[in-house]
Amino acid sequence: MIAKRQAEFLAWISRCALAEDAVLAVITGDACPCTNKTGSYDAQWHRDNPEPDDEDCGGTELIDTTTTTTNIKAFFYWSNIRGNVLAQSEGQYPIGEREEKFLVMIGTLKTSDNTFQTLDGLNERQSYVTYDGNRYRIKEVTDLHYAEMIRLEPI
Ligand SMILES: [Zn+2]
Repeated sequence: MIAKRQAEFLAWISRCALAEDAVLAVITGDACPCTNKTGSYDAQWHRDNPEPDDEDCGGTELIDTTTTTTNIKAFFYWSNIRGNVLAQSEGQYPIGEREEKFLVMIGTLKTSDNTFQTLDGLNERQSYVTYDGNRYRIKEVTDLHYAEMIRLEPI
């Protein structure tokens, strides 16, 4: 049932004029030495190790990187919806950010072969979506059973 609904949803995205093109970028590479101590990005380590041959990972936690891009199609809209599924994790955000508008993306169709492109499990430091000329960090992926709803944050 879910597979059938997903196939119908993807077929609908592929021909729906409201669905828009975007590009998913996933960065892979070797762990940056700045992550050795804490396991995550350490800006201070880069300040303490300024030798010119030390490549700064720029927050990706990776060096010697390769960026793989995938053309996608999805629905995008700005929202500050509260009390819905996106707000379930509201407690994670400082109070001041609760009124922020989110760019919501629902999809996702991989346009090269019209299959589902999951964004589940992507690391927000090492992946981003380019939409309408701007880059967005993938903040939250909600499984809709046959699609995903993603909250994007401008980079
Ligand atoms: Zn680093």
